[in-house]
Amino acid sequence: MTHLHRKRQIKIVATLGPASSSKETIRSLFEAGADVFRLNFSHGTHDDHRARYKIIREVEKEMGRPIGVLADLQGPKLRLGTFANGPITLTRGQKLRLDLDPTPGNDQRVHLPHPEIFSAVEVGHDLLLDDGKVRLNITAKGKDYLDTVVVAGEKLSDRKGVNVPHAVLNLSPLTPKDRTDLEVALDMGADWIALSFVQKPEDIQEAKRLVNGRAAVLAKLEKPSAIQYLNQIVELSDGVMVARGDLGVEMMPEDVPSIQKQIVRVARTAGKPVIVATQMLESMISAPTPTRAEASDVAAAIYDGTDAIMLSAESASGSYPIEAVTMMDRIATRTQQDPAYRSGLIAQAPDLQHTSADAITAAAHQVADTIAAAVIATYTTSGSTTLRAARERPLSPILCLTSKVETARRLALSFGVHAVFTEDVKDAREMVIKALDVAARDGLATIGQSIVITAGVPFGHPGNTNMLRIATIEPCFVNNPI
Ligand code: PGA
Ligand code: MN
Repeated sequence: MTHLHRKRQIKIVATLGPASSSKETIRSLFEAGADVFRLNFSHGTHDDHRARYKIIREVEKEMGRPIGVLADLQGPKLRLGTFANGPITLTRGQKLRLDLDPTPGNDQRVHLPHPEIFSAVEVGHDLLLDDGKVRLNITAKGKDYLDTVVVAGEKLSDRKGVNVPHAVLNLSPLTPKDRTDLEVALDMGADWIALSFVQKPEDIQEAKRLVNGRAAVLAKLEKPSAIQYLNQIVELSDGVMVARGDLGVEMMPEDVPSIQKQIVRVARTAGKPVIVATQMLESMISAPTPTRAEASDVAAAIYDGTDAIMLSAESASGSYPIEAVTMMDRIATRTQQDPAYRSGLIAQAPDLQHTSADAITAAAHQVADTIAAAVIATYTTSGSTTLRAARERPLSPILCLTSKVETARRLALSFGVHAVFTEDVKDAREMVIKALDVAARDGLATIGQSIVITAGVPFGHPGNTNMLRIATIEPCFVNNPI
């Protein structure tokens, strides 16, 4: 079996959908560079997701590499009611009332079936409808109505989405649909659960209680209030996403670039993987090449220091899913060769925590740079040792050796990590031999090259990284692997 080793450190997340559901396409997406597949529970049936999941695991087995699966829950997406006589046209300055009356609306009023909005908003707040195409300003409010005036927009039709940028709504991040979807996703074996429209730290705590360790939990940052609580949300989550689609509606477009940088910095500092998502290669939904601006946007996320970049409609429903992954792979591979990228990562390096794990991890990074080691090898059960190494953003690939397949799959999202599922080692000698063997087998290092190894001794006790070794690949490891 060939053990594929990618030269790219940035990871690629590809969303699956109608354009990418056959085994042939999913395998091609993996071969083109997808490290993690996203199942978007806003679309498709449970059977669709189960079928895709099954194919991903078949491809994983055939390729001999762990693949991450991220199940993305729709969350509390707010929507307008319906109109009696089809879409209404809007003019600037026009009055429109939103109320709790389910009768179909007209150009004077329309149903807004979310009582929690009425108590949370204030006069003067804006409501954004239809992905921000319509903006209404609230001029008066009562228990069961909001009077608004049209600030921008031309048209409204049935069940358009409503964003409430300024207010923290009294909503659980998990709707009844999300709770059902969550059980389906956990039951199939998803590695990551993504929560949409997270507003506050308690949202993550609630989700973690429900998930109960069966998957890692990723917070999608797409609400201003989530940015307000950024540090706490990152601390409680296992990873985060810069969800620029809704974030760019809830906040001003000019705010998105600096918020993206801020989120990436905070996530890296915490040692949690971060994904930059949405509209990265948007024009490739219908064209085989991206715009130059899109290529720059992908590179900009990489310069910011992100772990992963994501494709949505480009791979789920576009005409060029494989080309889009190939293009991301090319941009990432090219960008990581830029010396300015490396020096930027070093300049932004977060401070160390005063733990033996961080001391060993930083030392391993420095040793690896000093002797130009081919690999930094980490032994881990929970993944925490490997995550600390990824936080350093080292030049050498990070080999993760773990006896938990779930850990290997989750780490598919993390910067520079080449995870390998393997049996536990018993002692220090076996630890060195196995790391050398796997590094040689997977093409990460060749004869004469050195590797740096970190581990916790005694073995099998998570969270006690306290050992650093240097070892060199001898011919016997290539010729007579154990
Ligand atoms: P979505 O999330 O595609 O589920 O809306 C991503 C985003 O909002 O950017
Ligand atoms: Mn979103």
